[in-house]
Amino acid sequence: MTSPVTSATGAPDLPEYAPVPAIAKGAALNEHGYHVWQVERNLYAITDNVYMSAFLTTPDGVVIFDAPPNIGHNIRRAVDEITAANGLTNQVTHMVYSHHHADHQGASSLFGGDIVRIGHEETGRLLLRDDDPARPVPDVTFSDSYTLEVGGERVELAWHGPNHSSDNIYIHFPDHDTLMFIDVVNAGWIPIYNLNLSDDVIGYTGAPAIALDYPWTHLISGHLGRVATREDVAMHQQYIADIEASSREALASVNPGPIFKHYGENVWAAVKAHLDAVTEQAAAPVIAKYTGVLGGADIEIFTRTTTFAIMQSIRLDRGPSGPVHP
Ligand SMILES: [Zn+2]
Repeated sequence: MTSPVTSATGAPDLPEYAPVPAIAKGAALNEHGYHVWQVERNLYAITDNVYMSAFLTTPDGVVIFDAPPNIGHNIRRAVDEITAANGLTNQVTHMVYSHHHADHQGASSLFGGDIVRIGHEETGRLLLRDDDPARPVPDVTFSDSYTLEVGGERVELAWHGPNHSSDNIYIHFPDHDTLMFIDVVNAGWIPIYNLNLSDDVIGYTGAPAIALDYPWTHLISGHLGRVATREDVAMHQQYIADIEASSREALASVNPGPIFKHYGENVWAAVKAHLDAVTEQAAAPVIAKYTGVLGGADIEIFTRTTTFAIMQSIRLDRGPSGPVHP
């Protein structure tokens, strides 16, 4: 029997990376493992430095925006802490779903059946499909936009097409100078695998411009330990634009001819070697440029898989997929 290699600390033998840049540092967590802070007036964000959600306290009740299981029961603790400090009711009356993914909504059922859950109609359809008791199907759904009014506060929900997921919405707090838009931009960090595990490359890469069309100073983006700024969004856009540019360059410069000749009848081997060569050539300068600038940039597989997805979208969505045979 072989045992896995472990380090002196007993942890699996894991690769080491450079210290995260200052821009990627999270918050100091309390003894329960969360940090809650005032974003603007009665709008609060809560993080465990991996996930982030938000809530609005009003005289008529609390509205929760996403319930990531990673934060779990700490959402209740944070609501109780803030409402007690402000002499407001801690009763949760509404919950808004940014999108249907379990990693952002899997603690929704902790708030019981007596609250009003609101989400996009596609979120409703997907949650019916997924049939997960942890994520109750929304009671109120909308197709394009919805105005939520609770306790004198106003929140504007809007769907502008698929991006990270087919149902991911923009949650604007016009009286709190804040936008909540999840799983597209990470403040101070690169996206994880495949553009943050996104469904629609064109939708994902176009979404930050839609987000910037809204007026806001604070962006609650669903992950990590701080609220994003407009500069964070611009830096994310530049990272994506750099990948697009180097993918186009690599697609034009890597010659598949010799690779196909080498592999003969094993055409899939040739396809793999060609696409791997394009991906490697396109990703390398981006990894070099952002290492030490954005968190996670030296985790090369993240930029490589994102580059692969963007390079495929350039071929398949934008075209041409390749040269036309003479
Ligand atoms: Zn998601």
